[in-house]
Amino acid sequence: MYSYGLINSLALPAAILDRSGKVVSCNSKFHEAVSDVGENAVLGQTLFDLFPTVDELSPLSFFEKDADRKRGIQVELFTGHFRLSIDPIDDDFLCQLTPDCEMDSTGLRFLLEHLDQGVWSYDLLNDLFTVSDAWRRIRNVPPEFDMYSEAAQDPQLWLDNIHSDDRDQVWSDFSSLVTGDAHSVNVQYRYQVSKGRWRWVLCNAKVMAWDKDGAPAKIVGMDTDITSIKHGELNQLQLYSKLQLALDVSGIGVWEFDTETSQVYWDDTVLGIYGRKGELNNQPENLWETLIHPDDREATVSESYRAFTEKRDFRRDFRIVRANGEIRHVRCASRFVAVPGTKGKMLGVNIDVTDDYARAEELERARQLLEHDSRHDALTGLANRRLLDEHTADLLKRLNANDKFAVLHIDLDHFKQVNDTLGHAAGDQVLIRVADTLRALVGNDGLVCRNGGDEFVIVLETFTGEKSLRDLCENIIAQMAEPMITQGVARSIGLSIGCIVSSGDVVDTGEIFINADVALYAAKSAGRSCYKIFAPELRSVSRLDVTTYHDLVAAMDAGHVICHFQPQFDAQTLEIVGAEALMRWNCPSRGLVLPDDFLPAAQARGLCSRLDACVLDYVLSEQTRWAEAGRHVPTVALNISMHRLMEPDLIEQINAKLKPYHSISFELLETSFLDQRTDELDQVLHEIRQAGIRIDLDDFGSGHSSIVALQSVRPDRVKLDRMLIAPIQKNPAQIHILDALVRVARLENCGVVAEGIETQEQLDAIQGLNCEVVQGFYLGRPVLSDDFAVNLPRAIAAKNKTA
Ligand code: C2E
Ligand code: CA
Ligand code: CA
Repeated sequence: MYSYGLINSLALPAAILDRSGKVVSCNSKFHEAVSDVGENAVLGQTLFDLFPTVDELSPLSFFEKDADRKRGIQVELFTGHFRLSIDPIDDDFLCQLTPDCEMDSTGLRFLLEHLDQGVWSYDLLNDLFTVSDAWRRIRNVPPEFDMYSEAAQDPQLWLDNIHSDDRDQVWSDFSSLVTGDAHSVNVQYRYQVSKGRWRWVLCNAKVMAWDKDGAPAKIVGMDTDITSIKHGELNQLQLYSKLQLALDVSGIGVWEFDTETSQVYWDDTVLGIYGRKGELNNQPENLWETLIHPDDREATVSESYRAFTEKRDFRRDFRIVRANGEIRHVRCASRFVAVPGTKGKMLGVNIDVTDDYARAEELERARQLLEHDSRHDALTGLANRRLLDEHTADLLKRLNANDKFAVLHIDLDHFKQVNDTLGHAAGDQVLIRVADTLRALVGNDGLVCRNGGDEFVIVLETFTGEKSLRDLCENIIAQMAEPMITQGVARSIGLSIGCIVSSGDVVDTGEIFINADVALYAAKSAGRSCYKIFAPELRSVSRLDVTTYHDLVAAMDAGHVICHFQPQFDAQTLEIVGAEALMRWNCPSRGLVLPDDFLPAAQARGLCSRLDACVLDYVLSEQTRWAEAGRHVPTVALNISMHRLMEPDLIEQINAKLKPYHSISFELLETSFLDQRTDELDQVLHEIRQAGIRIDLDDFGSGHSSIVALQSVRPDRVKLDRMLIAPIQKNPAQIHILDALVRVARLENCGVVAEGIETQEQLDAIQGLNCEVVQGFYLGRPVLSDDFAVNLPRAIAAKNKTA
């Protein structure tokens, strides 16, 4: 047991406590320290009695629980100005009170002033508020400001500078310390250091001393400037909310895979993408794999695993299958993130790109459709010219030099008639039937193409000899000859075929088609509904201009083939007595094209008949317009090619169209044909006259139109060739030649027309001959129908004429 003397010699306040924690003796300093208690009253008291503010870790409970262990304790008891320590001595305990550091102790002051934290203490007994320099710095309080002034001691001054949002909290925390309801508080608030400038302050405050009634006597606080931390936090918060917004708006889901713990985290968006909304964010490690579409699974999983082991980024689109069977496209991007001391993490994002894929597929479908349409004929579904060209070029690349292939050029006979008489719907029906027949016959042996209009081309890749080519052609012709019913009428379709056999070493594909064309023309010349295989000799039959041909067909279909009217006059009175229709091609790109520039090509291709038919339609419709406009309708002379003249149904065609007010005549060209008088020609001419159509012999006196023809045709009129009129002025003897020709015509009871009159002298000379009609630029150039019609007399005369 320690004697009183012994403890009295100790520098610090000390007391001996027994095992139950009661004071058995103490020195005078200890007595002083607890001086509020009467001297004798100290002995026998417990520490709890002496220091009622001691909280949970109270020495009392220590004695109750751990006294037997004889361990010492240091109890942080800031009891007023003391720290309390208890150490075991023999069976008892030595309790010493260490004086606590006071605010004004120099060492501590130094320390405090150099701390960033501001320290303050509030002495409740004297109502005195003391602060450190750092405290002033944080709040921008100038050092000269007297903290001991009345103003400075007014708490309102400090409260006013606290942000209104934080003020109530600060006040209530502070009040709870003052009332003793709390021993310590921890509060953050904004403090206005100057107008508009705020600092964040973290305040830790504690009651450090109590009065004898146990009421707080001193509160000490430590303020830390946490402005930068707060701003960082705020920035982070803002950044985070921006990021979250971006993720939400863009539908990007975030996932994480911690390889160390095998934890998988999916955010709500990822769960949504996989059709698992509402499930836990922590998902089993292998779930992802099982959700990937079986066709994409292996490649996706192994690639992601490789990326992870090689610590590199992973990007991939794959399909997933939701629980309801729905298939979605997911885009995944992930990154390896090293975490020190672990195997690292994969951080990744998922986006549902199903709509993108759907759009891309739709675009692709549309593109394919466009692609298909641009290479196929809309009516028959066959390849078009473009595909034909591509296919042929491709074929030539594939074939060896010795490989043979064939091209068939097919043209329907008299297709225009079908269109004209039965209408375009019937024409379409015919084209479709031809397409179907060709497709069925050719099968996989080649490509069938509609070349435009009523033309078809077959590129026969599988060529097994000329015999099979002939068989194919005969089959095509035979099958099309079988009558088909269009609009209740059974009709067979005639077609002509030109073929060419070529080999893989051919360089110019254009050449192949031109030669097929040559063969086709030969077939047509040979009477149609037949085929010809190209041989160089056939070339002499036609000198073609393929472009012009196609253009002309298109021009006819588009109504670009018209004619101008050149007036014909009575040689004596110079009254208009008729007109010659002169064909013009009103080409949108080339302008008005004269016959000399396109007729040779048309002739070579047997297009003349169709052109002449066009002109007939045009002339009749113009005559109808003139008649409707109340004009006298003069006889219009039409130039007729031999093909046209010999068309078997020419008269039926014309009779079907002629109205009583129409008046036409025919000018026959290419008269070498006419030199040979045949029954057939006789019959045709007879029928033409029967139809009330006058027959003129064109270019009479030139090499084209001989006197022999005059006798075989016995025309109503002859037209003196303008080549004979032109030299009149230079050569006075010319007039005798003309005179002789007129006399010959007269012998055959023919009227005479002089054409190509370009001057008054020529007119004078002709008027001296026995000519009825004159025509030429000097009297009137070929003009548009309307320009011609203005010079026509009123219809009263027309009545007389038709009557
Ligand atoms: P053509 O039958 O001898 O027609 C007369 C040609 O002489 C026309 O030329 C006409 O413009 C021109 N001509 C008329 N008066 C004069 C003149 O005083 N001086 C000169 N230098 N020329 C004059 P175009 O229109 O160029 O026709 C040329 C040929 O084309 C025609 O010769 C005819 O053979 C043919 N042609 C014209 N229209 C048709 C048609 O509808 N069908 C057929 N198959 N051939 C036609
Ligand atoms: Ca003529
Ligand atoms: Ca002529």
